[in-house]
Amino acid sequence: MQGKKAHQESLFIQFQLSDHVPADNFYRRLKGVLDLDFLYQSTSKYYGKEGQKSIDPVVFMKLMLVGYLENINSDRRIITSSGMRMDILYFLGYNLGEELPWHSTLSRTRKLFGEKIFLELFKQVLKLCIDKGLIAGKRQAVDSALIPANASKYSMVERIVMEDASVFSRELNENIEQERAKPEAPKENDKNDQEKKDKKGPTNQTHYSPSDPDARLTTKPGKPMRLYYRAQMSVDTASHFITYIQAFKGNETDNTSLPAMLPQIVDNLSGAHVSRPEEILADTGYSSGKAIRALTANKLKGYIPNPGSYKSSREADGFTYDDKYDRYICLMSVPLPFRRVESVYGEPSVFKKIYESNISDCKNCPFKEICANNKGFKKLVDSADKPLYEYMRKRVESPKGKQMKSLRSSTVEPVFGSLINYTGLKRINTKGLKQANKGNACGCCSIQY
Ligand code: SF4
Repeated sequence: MQGKKAHQESLFIQFQLSDHVPADNFYRRLKGVLDLDFLYQSTSKYYGKEGQKSIDPVVFMKLMLVGYLENINSDRRIITSSGMRMDILYFLGYNLGEELPWHSTLSRTRKLFGEKIFLELFKQVLKLCIDKGLIAGKRQAVDSALIPANASKYSMVERIVMEDASVFSRELNENIEQERAKPEAPKENDKNDQEKKDKKGPTNQTHYSPSDPDARLTTKPGKPMRLYYRAQMSVDTASHFITYIQAFKGNETDNTSLPAMLPQIVDNLSGAHVSRPEEILADTGYSSGKAIRALTANKLKGYIPNPGSYKSSREADGFTYDDKYDRYICLMSVPLPFRRVESVYGEPSVFKKIYESNISDCKNCPFKEICANNKGFKKLVDSADKPLYEYMRKRVESPKGKQMKSLRSSTVEPVFGSLINYTGLKRINTKGLKQANKGNACGCCSIQY
């Protein structure tokens, strides 16, 4: 006989969540290992002694984790989805039918708590993993990803507007009554320059986003030009656990961020149950003289390929290096002695070495047309950090270096892929660098479980 389910809602029920959430349920197991009681102490400074009770800081942080674990980046949806899930209610310490915090409380609390609280949570989770012997520590792979900011490039405004505003207010203070002279009509050349600028579109130098002034306009192959933050991350190569995560401005290059990252990576992995990091694996974007020096300063051995533009030898171009006299010799046996050190354009702390031939030596050379410059001599430019790059080249080209290269890409890249596709890091859901850091730290706690 065909059955037909009749539904009549019960008026009274006796129900216990713990009876209905299986012992092997993820959130039940997470509740058993994740002790966030330290948050009461570390967030107490944000609350007064009287007034209405706030959201429980532990509940708040658990809701943040749920957002990342469930790949939800809307506070409203975190609350509605949590209310429908018995295992999440059990994880949060709520009963069926008990009202969850109002969604706007989440963004208010996120703004209220300092960045340090979120980093503390990240470290606490990392410590749990270390104590369980899940992290080896010795070798860390680093990488970065551009994460779209919560602002549109079309809402960017010219920085000059702000300067105009300050000039305008100064004028008001100085002479309110005086009528300002009529501005001169722009000359034809000025008009053309302005038209060219308008066609070129906004840049970080000329424009900013008023809704998120820390977001930066940038792009890379395969990514559209838009406002981004750059997430920098290190992953333990033995376990694929995230050991460091930090948001940087979108246009900050990997090699400028690395010196700031290294002490933090070492600090995160300091403890009795983990080896101090010894090796850092990174791609060519992290290569610079400053970055290699930072590795040495932090007692770390780097495996970072030199930039593609770096030339180890100029023999293919017909120039051999004479290290005794620090000079190059061309194929016509003419010397190009070292002349001077210059700073790289736009980077005053990065230097290059200049080698130049004499005009008289090149004067009658048959290769003058293709070799010398229009002033009649040959100029070669080397990085002042060439000895460091050479040292790194030898290490990277060794059999172990080749092994480290494939280990890096097979370790850190899939972790970033998971973060972006499955734990809500597809987009930064907050505004400002500090808020972005809070999201990064919290999102990565979720992936460590
Ligand atoms: S142009 Fe000058 S530097 Fe170049 S090959 Fe001739 S002599 Fe040598």
